[in-house]
Amino acid sequence: MSSTLRVGILTISDTAFQDPAADTSGPSLCRLVEAEPRYTVEVTACIPDDHKVIQKTVTAWCDDLDLHLVLTTGGTGFGVRDCTPEAVLPLLDRQTPGISHLIFAKSIQITPFAALSRAVSGIRGQTLVLTFPGSPKAVKENFEAVAKLLPHAIDLARGGTGKKTHEKMQGGPRPSGVAPTATEEKGQTESSHSHGHGHGRGHGHGHGGHTCFHHSDREAKTDAASLGLGTPVSRRLRKSPYPLIPMEQALSSVMDRVVPLSSVQKPVDGSLIGAVLDEDVVAVEAVPGYRASILDGYAVIDTDGPGQYPVTAVSIAAASSDGSATTLLPGQIARITTGGALPEGATAVVMVEDTLLVKSSEDGTHEETVEILAKVRKGEAIREIGSDIQVGQTVLKKGQVISAVGGEIGVLASIGVQKVLVRQRPVVGFLSTGNEVVNHDNGEELKMGQIRDSNRPTLIAATKAAGFDFLDLGIAPDSPEDLEAAIKGGLAKCDIVVTTGGVSMGEMDLLKPILEQKLGATIHFGRIMMKPGKPTTFATVPNPNGGQPRLLFALPGNPVSATVTFHLFVLPALRKLAGYEKYMWPSVQAAVAHDVRLDERPEYQRAVVSVTPEGTIKVQSTDKNQMSSRMVSMLGANSLMVLPGRTAERDSVSMGQKIECLLISNLG
Ligand code: AMP
Ligand code: MG
Repeated sequence: MSSTLRVGILTISDTAFQDPAADTSGPSLCRLVEAEPRYTVEVTACIPDDHKVIQKTVTAWCDDLDLHLVLTTGGTGFGVRDCTPEAVLPLLDRQTPGISHLIFAKSIQITPFAALSRAVSGIRGQTLVLTFPGSPKAVKENFEAVAKLLPHAIDLARGGTGKKTHEKMQGGPRPSGVAPTATEEKGQTESSHSHGHGHGRGHGHGHGGHTCFHHSDREAKTDAASLGLGTPVSRRLRKSPYPLIPMEQALSSVMDRVVPLSSVQKPVDGSLIGAVLDEDVVAVEAVPGYRASILDGYAVIDTDGPGQYPVTAVSIAAASSDGSATTLLPGQIARITTGGALPEGATAVVMVEDTLLVKSSEDGTHEETVEILAKVRKGEAIREIGSDIQVGQTVLKKGQVISAVGGEIGVLASIGVQKVLVRQRPVVGFLSTGNEVVNHDNGEELKMGQIRDSNRPTLIAATKAAGFDFLDLGIAPDSPEDLEAAIKGGLAKCDIVVTTGGVSMGEMDLLKPILEQKLGATIHFGRIMMKPGKPTTFATVPNPNGGQPRLLFALPGNPVSATVTFHLFVLPALRKLAGYEKYMWPSVQAAVAHDVRLDERPEYQRAVVSVTPEGTIKVQSTDKNQMSSRMVSMLGANSLMVLPGRTAERDSVSMGQKIECLLISNLG
């Protein structure tokens, strides 16, 4: 488990909901939790004593935010509106009566009124949920009763052995690595995303300098993790609310949501290149359609053998005028060209090099007698009817990619297929974002603080090279209105919209709140344990034209991050949309030409894979400095080295060791 335990603190009280200043239990619980360095309060909210609202909030915090611990305060008593236990109990996969008893045992020693608490506790998914009464005093006593065993309990609830927690509690070694345990995918049903408790009030409360955010700061989608768009910078989140998920999880989160597009009939021509067949193609013509000579020479009857023969016919590769072939009798031969139709009765062809001219016509225009020097076998140098393709044979299978090499178009053309059913090709739109970003080719000198847009030209070029259609959506400044309008424009026309920039933690990073709060998008992940590309964001957005939801990738602004994540996520998604069965990049094991230091995060280093004359596959980083803003580190790259995250046992890959490399271009 990760070393920081992420906590949500939920005040459940009609009074506090109406007057946030009346909430004293929530803030004191925050202070208690944050006094422990291993905890971070990731979300707080104040909601009314409403069964539905409680259920929706707790469900979202457990399932979507994947918190380690949810602590509620209030609604556990005998009041008519108190319904916290009734709301929370059905959400729990497993109850934890021991924890409830421990809290009760300690509280009852302090006051007999503890008997009036109906608090419950348990585990939902991997989240521990405890309900506390609604007074600061009770909250303190309850929390202190269980504080020591909570990390251990959380570890166990997340499938841990508890060993590391024991060590930590005893001051031993901290868990190494940062393997996240996010379960972003679990239980994401539409209903768990579409809830809304719809109260518009919001407040943040500072607790000893730490800013908690209030759940009701969110608008539109109450399961949104982003803050309301109007939130002042002083109240922005200082830690991302999006779980840091492993790369494999991010990839399957994307690919599980990509549904190949429908199919269309297309003519057999160059426009098919890169398309994926959505039908088996069965030959209705044979190839060859007649018995054809493989050579320039003489059609013979093989049993005649070597000797001198009259040349009684000529068969040049051409359509016969009456549709019939000539006939060869024993003792006769026919001059024939490559591809010419064999006369009836002929059983072999002798190449011209194995013959001698004995006699030509007086005017020299044709041959009369020719000597056959070689003995040939029956069927020699003849292509029989259907010997390449027979009528009824399946020549191309559904799922076949029409390559630019030529085989598929060539075969289709050879059997006279005029149209084939292929998957439609997706269209991807590219939008750069940022007040500082200007067109790369505007010809003007840059002002202080401006940068040229390198992302759009790069990604558009890579898209073109991969054979996909694109739409250039230009540059949008960091304003909610401009961004919303530009993305909406893209969503109307593109299967995938790719934005770059605006997904990190700055106050101008508006993409996530806009997606969640203005476009009704569901963000499936907003951070990945990878380098470069940590803030890579993936969302699905309702399709303005109906049908399958649109896919939206909000890639980081740094050019290398944008390019690498484009290759890792967007191109494979485009290929899957286009019907490719193999949509991921191929990979090879290559020996590194130098030592490579491992980063804390799994890393995709830009590299050149090449094959030595002896056949060894080796790989070399393009540049020692692999910073995500440094586009020169992409120069010449044909590959991404797949480097695992650093562990206590392994912090580097030594020269000569083999490492997986994704081949994103041709071998060097
Ligand atoms: P952001 O995620 O918007 O904070 O951007 C991260 C970094 O990438 C900043 O230094 C931006 O100036 C830079 N950046 C953003 N968009 C682009 C772009 N289209 N081309 C080149 N650099 C960019
Ligand atoms: Mg920006």
